[in-house]
Amino acid sequence: MTLVQHRRITRQIRVGNVDIGSNAQISVQSMTNTQTQDVDSTVAQIHQLEKAGCQIIRVAVPDMEAALAIQQIKARIQIPLIADIHFDYRLALASAQAGADALRINPGNIGSTRKIKAVVDCATDYGIPIRIGVNAGSLEKEIEQQFGPTAAGMVKSALKNIQMLEDLGFSKIKVSLKASDVERTVSAYRKLAPLTDVPFHIGVTEAGGRIAGIAKSSIGIGLLLAEGIGDTLRVSLTRDPVEEVRTGYEILRALGIRNRGPELISCPTCGRCRIDLFNIADQVENALLERSSEIKVAIMGCSVNGPGEAREADIGIAGGDGKGILFKKGKVIRKIRQEELVDQLLTEIDMMIEHVEDGNGKE
Ligand code: SF4
Repeated sequence: MTLVQHRRITRQIRVGNVDIGSNAQISVQSMTNTQTQDVDSTVAQIHQLEKAGCQIIRVAVPDMEAALAIQQIKARIQIPLIADIHFDYRLALASAQAGADALRINPGNIGSTRKIKAVVDCATDYGIPIRIGVNAGSLEKEIEQQFGPTAAGMVKSALKNIQMLEDLGFSKIKVSLKASDVERTVSAYRKLAPLTDVPFHIGVTEAGGRIAGIAKSSIGIGLLLAEGIGDTLRVSLTRDPVEEVRTGYEILRALGIRNRGPELISCPTCGRCRIDLFNIADQVENALLERSSEIKVAIMGCSVNGPGEAREADIGIAGGDGKGILFKKGKVIRKIRQEELVDQLLTEIDMMIEHVEDGNGKE
C-alpha cells in the first residue's frame, strides 16, 4: 500500500546509469563532506555510502585541484558522481572533462550568459545533465529585489534558468528549489510542479542537526513525495552522510514507496522491560545495515506483550528476567539466555535471508 497517489509526469534524464524522472525509481543521493582533492578520504566515504545504498554522489568542487581529483575518484567508485559548482564556470568545464556524470550549478552565481553557454556546450559535448540548483539564499539580484527570498522568487529563478538552458538547445535538466524551512521549500515545489516537466531533486537544505534535520527533511520530502512530487532526493544533515542515506530510505519506506534492507520495529519500553533494550536495538540496527533482504525484525522489551504486539514481524526477540525469547510471526520458538539474544537473533536472520534468497520464500 502506498500513500502516494499520482506521481508527477516528467521528462526523464540519466545521471551515469541512474534514470531520473518519469517512471524511474526515486533515487537516494548524498554529498561527501571530505575535501574533494583528498582522493583517499573521499573515495573511502563514497564506499561507505555505496554500502548504505547511496545511488548518486555529489562532491563539492571549490577549486581546480578538486575538479582534477574527479578523474581519480571516478576510477575507484561504482556510483555516478555529480560535480557541485559555484561561481567559477571553468570548474564546471574541468569537472566534465574529468569525467563527472552531471553538473550542479546555480546559474544565479555563474554569471553572464556567455559563461552559462560555455557550461551548456560542454555538458552537451559530454552528454551529461545539469541540475539547476536554486537556493532561496542566493537568488539572482533582480529576482531577489522583486520577490525576496520567497517560494515565488525561487520559482521565478527556476523558470528563467530552465528557459535559458532550453533556449541554448539543452534539455537534460533537473531542478532543485532549496530553502532551510519546510514551508517555503514545499510551497516552491508545489508552485513549480505544474509549470514544467523537468524532474525534481528534492530536499530541505541546511535542515539542521540530527533530530531537527530528520524531522524537517521527513516532513518536507514526505509531503512532496506523497503528492507525487520528487524524482531523486537528498536528506541534508549536519552528520555523517551515511545517516542522510539511511534517513532517505526510511522516508521512502514509511511512505510505502520503496524498501531497502530489513525493517526494524522496536517498542519504546515501559515499566515491564527488564533489559537494556536501547543498547540491544542499537546493536541489531547496526548489524542489519549490512543485510539487504527485506525482512521485518522486532526488538521488544518484554515477553508478556512483545511477541503479540510485534505479530507482523517475520522474526524478533523479547526480553525477560534473565531469559528472553525468540519468536517468528508472533509465535514463540525458544527461550534464550539474555546475553545470547542478539547473536542468536542475527544467526536466525541470516538463515532466514539465505532461505529467502534460495527461492524458498519466507517462513
Ligand atoms: Fe512495554 Fe513490553 Fe510493550 Fe515493550 S513490549 S512497550 S516492554 S509492554
